[in-house]
Amino acid sequence: MLNLFGLTLSQLQELCLEQGFPKFTARQLCDWLYAKGVSEIDAMTNLSLKVRARLKEIYVVNRPTPVNCQVSKDGTKKYLFPYQLDNSTTQQFNNSTVHYFETVFIPEEDRATLCVSCQVGCKMGCRFCATGAQGFHGSLSAGEILNQIFSIPEFSKLTNIVYMGMGEPMDNYDAVMQSIAVLTSDWGLGWSPHRITVSSVGVIPMVKRFLDESECHLAISLHNPVPAERVAIMPMQRAYPISELVSLLRRYDWSHQRRLTFEYTMIRGVNDDEAHAVKLVQLLKGLNCRVNLIRYHDSATDPNFKASQPLTIQRFQSFLNKQGITCTLRTSRGEDIMAACGLLAKVKGRDA
Ligand code: SF4
Repeated sequence: MLNLFGLTLSQLQELCLEQGFPKFTARQLCDWLYAKGVSEIDAMTNLSLKVRARLKEIYVVNRPTPVNCQVSKDGTKKYLFPYQLDNSTTQQFNNSTVHYFETVFIPEEDRATLCVSCQVGCKMGCRFCATGAQGFHGSLSAGEILNQIFSIPEFSKLTNIVYMGMGEPMDNYDAVMQSIAVLTSDWGLGWSPHRITVSSVGVIPMVKRFLDESECHLAISLHNPVPAERVAIMPMQRAYPISELVSLLRRYDWSHQRRLTFEYTMIRGVNDDEAHAVKLVQLLKGLNCRVNLIRYHDSATDPNFKASQPLTIQRFQSFLNKQGITCTLRTSRGEDIMAACGLLAKVKGRDA
């Protein structure tokens, strides 16, 4: 059965045309699926019985609830979803292993952010990231991405969505953009795109498309300004050099509401000395952006990697700020439940 949840207005219009349904049915479907959030075709009571019966022959509203929720002492919650291989955009695999993906709810005083996954595992292989170490198991559909948002009890409290969970959003571009269309269109949730941030290691052609086709914020995983060193921790540097990416980013206007952030995980003795700070300033000078430092979480991946010392992080941050680059230190959230940055991976005892 195909999943109705996650389809855009134009996809639903096409479906209605194919099935000979009245034209206005597509808008009614959007209303039920996204504004009212129903999970049964039978609950769509303003559709005729005939339309509902035909829909049920082909479609379902696939809205699975999370199978587990861990709560951190800081209030962060990590939800676990089974990977269902439920549609044609999902890659099929010939093994019987059940995989899971994770979603992290981060409550703060003035906002409530949800960090969503777009893939199960990741192909990018960043050495400091537990998701990268897990390998790649498939890409999520738009419905599976959106369901992470719609199915949690905190849905109505959410103020921001960040595509920074498992996977590389630019490697699942169509599904990510389809989910953003549902979040931001008047027939969907009608959110401002400025409530959404999408991250990337910097897949240049897709970042360009994203900048041309959306107004959401962009966060680039930078982590080392020295190409020869960056490639050692981020293999994608070979195909998409950071200098070329920054040249592309300089062609766009960042002076208005759209925000550009560079994520920088501080790893002791790897990317955290003064020479790195100087190179980083040279790379980003004149670009309207901010740098977000992230303390490396020791349990993330490579046992040789350690978190930078707090004083080193402080010096790095203040050097950048003095050089005119706004630099913040991201508060670590949910570390005790392995929900912090770089820690998302399969949950022990859950995988078959
Ligand atoms: Fe993939 Fe992001 Fe982890 Fe790199 S940091 S391996 S892109 S999930």
